[in-house]
Amino acid sequence: MLKPHDTIPFSGSPLDRAGNQRRDAAWLDAQRNASTSRFLLLRELKPLIALEGGAHLAWFPQRFAAPLAECPNLLLGLEDGVAHFAVDVDDIPGIDALADDNNKFIDVRSIAPQLSLPEAAILAQARSMTDWHKRHRFCAQCGAASQAEDAGYSRRCTNDACRAQHFPRTDPVVIMLGVYGDQILLGRQPQFLPGVYSALAGFMEPGETIEEAVRRELAEEAGLATSDVRYIASQPWPFPSSLMIGCVATATSDAVTVDRHELEDARWFHRDEVATMLRASTDTSAPLRLPPPLSLAHQIARRYLSES
Ligand SMILES: [Zn+2]
Repeated sequence: MLKPHDTIPFSGSPLDRAGNQRRDAAWLDAQRNASTSRFLLLRELKPLIALEGGAHLAWFPQRFAAPLAECPNLLLGLEDGVAHFAVDVDDIPGIDALADDNNKFIDVRSIAPQLSLPEAAILAQARSMTDWHKRHRFCAQCGAASQAEDAGYSRRCTNDACRAQHFPRTDPVVIMLGVYGDQILLGRQPQFLPGVYSALAGFMEPGETIEEAVRRELAEEAGLATSDVRYIASQPWPFPSSLMIGCVATATSDAVTVDRHELEDARWFHRDEVATMLRASTDTSAPLRLPPPLSLAHQIARRYLSES
């Protein structure tokens, strides 16, 4: 029996985020200077990946990372008492020299399927937070420069008349299967690879519950009327910082009207067909397939079929 999150890519980080300790500047300095601490370098949001012996995060020891102390860096957390940091190295001249045949800066979406689940989860956190700092250098309230605080978990405006505090954003997205008896509703966007059908999805809007957003999206994109909505699983999605919320919604009829502005197609598939499409998800020659296991669409379809 699957547990809710045991195999969701980008979840399951082994790191303790040390929320109660990281506000202590002296403690944080000691972690930054500890010989055991480990540093993950990101250039243009691409982590340095070591490829020898299977892809894994290329953690730098403190003695090599010391010259990078002036770079923006944030505490990812502790594992067995060892601090792990992410460092944005975009402004370091010659940083490309660190890359060679066995160590490369590789974008997260390409490399994540090759990493262990714990490393992919650490990477999701590192990418989302690094991206947020890069995009939020100025106060949204007054426009003055802001600076990182709390080991990277907030930013503070430097204007003494303002001093507004800003927190990393996470954008919730609902992603859902409409179901009607043995039928499951899937759709495709024009930019999908040929043969790929996926769960419908959309950003939650202010003032909505998860259930309301699921019903609204199914109604808008497929003209589908639904009754109860059930949560299945969620997934951090670091492009740049969404939280995917996977649900199943029971349709009250099988009438579908596709919104052609949003979707190229949406239609019902028998659950046996969906099972075949799951198995074919990484086979680009398959006539019909679901997205690969990295996606929450794949994971909620798998869970739904395994439980019902
Ligand atoms: Zn301000």
